This record gives sequence, C-alpha cells and structure tokens, in this order.
Amino acid sequence: MKIGLAQVDGKYPNLALMKLSAWHKAQGDDAEFWNPLFKYDGVYASKVFNDTPENYYLPDGVVRGGTGYDFETELPAEVEKMIPDYSLYPEWTAAIGFTTRGCIRKCPYCVVPRKEGALRVVGDIYSFWAGQKKIVLLDNNLTAAPFEHFRAVCGSCIAEGLSVDFSQGLDIRLVTPEHAGLLARVRTFKQIHFAFDHVNYERAVRDGIKILIRSGVGISRLMFYVLIGYDSTPEQDLYRVELLRGLGVDPFVMPYNRRNSYQNNFARWVNMKAIFKTIPWEVYGPNRMRNEYAIKGGG
Ligand code: SF4
Repeated sequence: MKIGLAQVDGKYPNLALMKLSAWHKAQGDDAEFWNPLFKYDGVYASKVFNDTPENYYLPDGVVRGGTGYDFETELPAEVEKMIPDYSLYPEWTAAIGFTTRGCIRKCPYCVVPRKEGALRVVGDIYSFWAGQKKIVLLDNNLTAAPFEHFRAVCGSCIAEGLSVDFSQGLDIRLVTPEHAGLLARVRTFKQIHFAFDHVNYERAVRDGIKILIRSGVGISRLMFYVLIGYDSTPEQDLYRVELLRGLGVDPFVMPYNRRNSYQNNFARWVNMKAIFKTIPWEVYGPNRMRNEYAIKGGG
C-alpha cells in the first residue's frame, strides 16, 4: 500500500504522522508526505490549530486527526507505541515525544484538560528517543508528574548526555529544591520556560525563581510566558512584566486575542528585546496606539 501523510500546520515535526509512518512501514507499506499529484491507497491529515484553514485539495476518504480537527480522534494503541519515523524530517535532529499526557490543572484557556484529561505517565524517553543528541519533551506539565518520574526523565537525559527542550514549559508553582537540583544538572538547548499567567501567582513566581537560583540554575536559562488579555488588566500585564524584568528573567508575552491592537502592541514591545530594553511602555505604548489610530484614519 502507498500511504500519504499531510501535515496541515504546525512548526514542529508532526508526531502522529511520524508514528503512522513508522507503523505502516513496519507492515511493509510505503509512507511519504502526501503529494496532490500522486495517487495513494490511504491518506492521513493532521492539523494542530483550529484556526488553520482546511486544505481543500485533500482527497475523499482522508483520515483526519489532531486538535485542529477534533479532541476525540486518537491513534490506535499499536501506532501510539511506535518509535517515530524521524526519516520523514531529515532536517530535524532532535527526538520528540511525550512521557506524560494530560495535566493536573484546568486552566480555562487551555485545550489540554479537555483533550487529554488528567495527568498520567505514558512512557519514558526511550519510548521515542532514537539516539539523537537533543530531545524535545512535549509533556504539558512535567513538574506535576510524580517526582520519581520527573527524576527518571531528567536522570535519563543526564545519563545519556542529552540536551533537552522542555517545550511546553514547567510549572513554577510546583518547583521544589529537588526539581531545581535536577534542572541545574540537565543540559538544555533553549531557555527553561515557565508561565506567569495571573498576577495572583506572584508569590509562587518569586519563591520558585529563588529556589531555582539557589539550586544553581543560571538566571539567564529562565524565561516566563506572560498571558495577557485573559482575566488581566493592562496595569497587571505591565506589573507582571516589570516584576520579571526586576528579578532578572526574560518575559515573553502571549496575547490571548491576536486581533486586539493593545495586546499585539504590548507583546511586540516586550518580545522585541531591543525595544524592551531601551523604550519604556509609557512611551512606546501611547505612540504606537496613536500611530495606528492615525493610519486607520482616526486623525
Ligand atoms: S497548567 Fe498548562 S497544560 Fe495545564 S491546564 Fe494550565 S495551561 Fe494547560
């Protein structure tokens, strides 16, 4: 059989398609990225984001899956357990996968609780690592896993000499000296991400950063996502960002509504570091908004 694999969106290699490819190849099938000019015996399409437009050239009978289509479709267990077929993405040099699914929290703006439910361990790095030097962990909230699991995952990465990306971030509210001690030892190839999504978490953010630094995690390795436009005021947005700046860690603003001009402008101000370091919001913000207003014909 000849199988076509269509990645509709997403910047990361598509894990579901890599596992489908591995499974079909193990059955003796051919699997490749779908090409609308060729005929296939079966086509799978995977879409991560629900605002990505559908690819209207997909053939009849295509099997669709991924959060961008629905929350229900899952890979069959025998496909889920395959080591991903990394040959689909020859430019990609890291292993990628989950050791846990789900989350202990139910943040209302997040799809994970609806899609994956409660947190549970589903494997270890050996479930998807194929000898690469780098590893991207897609766990939604690895710090919420039982500590033995966190220790085993970090310990395996340290023992194998891997450089890690905790791509979905860690939970600052749950960081203990034991977590921090392991994070100090594990090599990372990106900053370690946390979130400061609500001003009410200020105490946890301050305490967590102290624990990390005391345990030997360099401050330049830390970065905090700051969600704005969801249950926060502009004053609270500025307060959180300036608090992080004052503590010496990098903020990265995530606008809840990308069509909102304040949210976009605030995110641009913080995330373009050259601007953030030199121009205060009190100057940048009003100027930017005034210019936009003028461009739109407001005077
Ligand atoms: S902690 Fe993170 S993964 Fe868990 S529900 Fe909240 S945003 Fe989603």
